[in-house]
Order: sequence, then structure tokens, then C-alpha cells
Amino acid sequence: MNELLNKFALVTGGSRGIGAATAIALAERGADVAFTYKSSADAAAKVVKEIEALGRRAFALEVDAADAVAVADGVQQAADRLGGLDILVNNAGVGAIAPIGDLTLADVDRVLAVNIRGAYAAAQAAVLLLSEGGRMIHLGSCATERVPGPGMTLYAMSKSAITGLSKGLARELGSRGITSNVVHPGPIDTDMNPADGPFAEAQLTNLAVPRFGTAAEVAAAITYLAGPQAAYITGTALSIDGGHAA
Ligand code: NDP
Repeated sequence: MNELLNKFALVTGGSRGIGAATAIALAERGADVAFTYKSSADAAAKVVKEIEALGRRAFALEVDAADAVAVADGVQQAADRLGGLDILVNNAGVGAIAPIGDLTLADVDRVLAVNIRGAYAAAQAAVLLLSEGGRMIHLGSCATERVPGPGMTLYAMSKSAITGLSKGLARELGSRGITSNVVHPGPIDTDMNPADGPFAEAQLTNLAVPRFGTAAEVAAAITYLAGPQAAYITGTALSIDGGHAA
């Protein structure tokens, strides 16, 4: 369980949900971890405590993913505080579930700023800092493989761009041994998509394994891609989606 010992990781949006589970899972495998958050300071402090209890260093950085300049600065700060950067998990994201006619251009700008521009800015800053053999893992969505119903156009569009980001980076960074991959979660029980929420039952009808996944199940896939055994996996995607795309 120590395959990430002496590795330095940054997780964007690590205060809650999949990001928090990933930050902790990376630390369980030996990594020191910095993570960003926007507004959940108490939850971020709990994640820091949990990582420190594992004997690893943890840094919580308040960085709005919608502010690309702050994101680039946050990546630099993370590398400075950790002492380097080996792993970037581009996780911060927001949902936007509504019929296209109900969404304003301000909604479009907000969602694209976090889900795409912020992810791009984090990757761009990390390119300069990542060590030889580094890792980038970006959070996509099962809705990019198959949009399960109406009301998801903006979200699916934003998450589809992550595939282009990741594949482009794989081509740019492969010669340095750096990999770039996407994970596509299906319905995962978090604040964004609670298993007892109003849309939960409809989502179950699309699955081969008819239950919500857990944040820990997604974190396990991310830590695998972050580890030494995944050195020859790049430019591809791993779905943790209960068979949503089957
Ligand atoms: P949650 O809403 O549960 O958690 C989101 C995390 O991102 C929080 O830590 C939050 O921090 C942070 N965050 C949100 N906006 C910003 C921002 N502007 N700047 C910095 N941090 C921010 O989401 P999930 O854990 O469910 O989702 C994680 C990722 O997985 C997202 O990219 C999402 O799109 C994707 N995903 C999730 C699915 C699901 O079913 N849950 C399905 C498919 C994809 P804070 O609280 O401090 O704002």
C-alpha cells in the first residue's frame, strides 16, 4: 500500500465527495497531498486531519477553480509547499442539470469556467512542474459516453471537453513519461448527486449494476492510474459507472 511513497499530489476540489476520497486514498498509498477547495473550509480541515493521521503531509488551499489565474498560482503554491509535483487530479467540477432553454449564458460561463477553463489552467501550470513519470487524471462523466436523459446538455458538453484536454496532454507529455487519463464516474453518491436525491431512481434504470457507486470506488481507480503499474496507460478513459455505457 506504499506505492506512492515520496510522491507529491494535488487534487482540485478535495474538500468533499470524490476529491476528498481521492486525497485520502492517495495518502493511504504514501503520497503527501495538497488539495484545493472553494467554500467548504470545515470539510477541508477534516480532510487535512484525516491525511495527517495517516502520517502524511496535507495542505488545503482556498482556490476558486473558476479563476484561472488563481488556479495557476494554486498549482505553484502546492508544488512549493509539497516540495514538488508528481500527480495532478483535475477533479473540481459543478453540475448543471436543467433544460437547455432554462439555462442562461451566465450559467454556461460559470460551468465552463470551472469544468473546462479551470481544468485547463491547472493542467497548463502543472506541465511546467510535473516530474518525469508524472500523472494527470481528469474527472469526466458517464454522460459523455451516453447522455442518459434530457437536461444534461451543458454538463455533458463541458465534460466532453475533458476528453480532448486529456488526449492532447497525453501526446504532449508522453516523451517525459507523464501520462494523462480520464475517469468517467457514473452516478456516485456525493453532495452533487445524492443516492436519495430526486433524480436517483431514474439514474438506476440506466445501470447494469443497479446501485449508486461510492466516492471510494472512483478514488481506487484514480489511485491505480496514479501508480507505477499504470505507466503505459495514457490518452484513454476508465469508466467507473456500474455499466452505464454498456
Ligand atoms: P461534490 O459537489 O460532492 O464535490 C465537489 C468538490 O469540488 C468539492 O470539494 C468543492 O469544494 C469543489 N469545488 C466545486 N466548485 C469549486 C470551485 N469553483 N473551486 C474549487 N473547488 C470547487 O462533487 P463530486 O465529488 O460528486 O464530483 C467530483 C467530480 O466528479 C466533478 O468534476 C463531477 O463533475 C464529477 N462527476 C461526479 C459524478 C457524481 O455522480 N457524483 C458523476 C460524474 C462526474 P467546496 O465545497 O469547497 O466548494
